Amino acid sequence: MVKKYETPMLDQLETGPWPSFITGIRKLANEHPDERIQDVTSSLLGQLEHSYETRKGYWKGGTVSVFGYGGGIIPRFSEVGDAFPASREFHTVRVQPPAGNYYTSDILRQLGDSWEKHGSGLVTFHGQTGNIMFIGTDTKSIQPFFDEINEYGFDLGGAGPCVRTAMACVGAARCEQSCADEHKIMRLLVNNFMDDMHRPALPYKFKFKVSGCPNDCMNSIERADFSVIGTWRDDMKVNQEAIKGYVKTKGRKYLIDNVIARCPTNALSLNDDDTLTVDNSNCVRCMHCLNVMPKALSPGDDKGITVLIGGKRTLKIGDLMGTVVLPFKKLETDEDYESLVELAEEMIDFFAENALEHERTGEMIERIGLVNYLEGIGVEVDPNMVSSPRQSSYVRLDTWDEEAEKWYQRQAEKAAG
Ligand code: SF4
Repeated sequence: MVKKYETPMLDQLETGPWPSFITGIRKLANEHPDERIQDVTSSLLGQLEHSYETRKGYWKGGTVSVFGYGGGIIPRFSEVGDAFPASREFHTVRVQPPAGNYYTSDILRQLGDSWEKHGSGLVTFHGQTGNIMFIGTDTKSIQPFFDEINEYGFDLGGAGPCVRTAMACVGAARCEQSCADEHKIMRLLVNNFMDDMHRPALPYKFKFKVSGCPNDCMNSIERADFSVIGTWRDDMKVNQEAIKGYVKTKGRKYLIDNVIARCPTNALSLNDDDTLTVDNSNCVRCMHCLNVMPKALSPGDDKGITVLIGGKRTLKIGDLMGTVVLPFKKLETDEDYESLVELAEEMIDFFAENALEHERTGEMIERIGLVNYLEGIGVEVDPNMVSSPRQSSYVRLDTWDEEAEKWYQRQAEKAAG
């Protein structure tokens, strides 16, 4: 017999103009064919109503995991479990998504079936951290659920002070702007640090995110400690016939107002004969013109990646955007990919040894200084490392010529082997 609870405040939430999260939970509570799921979700609604009444949260943490792992589960035990017994334990299981979030509908059904067998039926595709969030199950059901999905290829993600589940954008299969093999980069990084993901042993979290082009659909620059963004370093490709086509259909005024004038660095000019001239040396890869005129403009042929380090949300010292530590890197050979993974290893080792408890990489760099950090990870200072393109170079301009000379010398020595 499913126990129902009075929920007048939650009912109100459903009356507004926007879809409410209550509706989904209530659907499970009222209509799911399995009485166990009805019971669990009804109890959850009861506790939530109680929280709204008393203005208090009643979930507390604990320690729950599966054999051999130290993370991947967010334990939730109710402090009012006697009043709402069916949702007394309501843990969340974090599961790694495939790179680019590609699923077949069969696999989605399979995941849904496994979760309805062992959990509450509530799922988030995907949480901010990139994981599939299977929300709500008790301690005894965690291991069987994990065993079942592990059997057909899924693994737990990261939770706690560890390498977190990585994310990659949808990538070249569906996006013409892609400049890198996002999914390969993500898989190589994640697979290499699987131990650090499953057994939390870092000062705090460390996130990888991979975007195939400077549109940065993963928001990696704001969210990832280690952000990889595909880019190009030659001239962007311009199809002048297609530009003329845009002028014909949209009109010169429209293009000037909406593309040319919106280039942040005035790198575009529309000529009298309706062709476009791009001042490539001034293009900062904001991607606006390429996004607006995808048939006419596309990234150049000399493609590679930029690596930024230290992006993160608020925490202690406010939001930080990533800082460029590797301005451009070609990824063509196995050695190229290996050296990227090695760089990540250096960064994670340095982070593990030098960060304070509960301190993200960006905060650590703010505390110890970027130059010390670069020395620590063995990366040479490069004039192309900038925090804000065209505004704040880390190179002091009063000794610019000497420094530039030294840099060119080092590059020449490197090239000579
Ligand atoms: Fe200008 Fe941005 Fe286009 Fe570069 S990508 S030319 S900066 S609008």
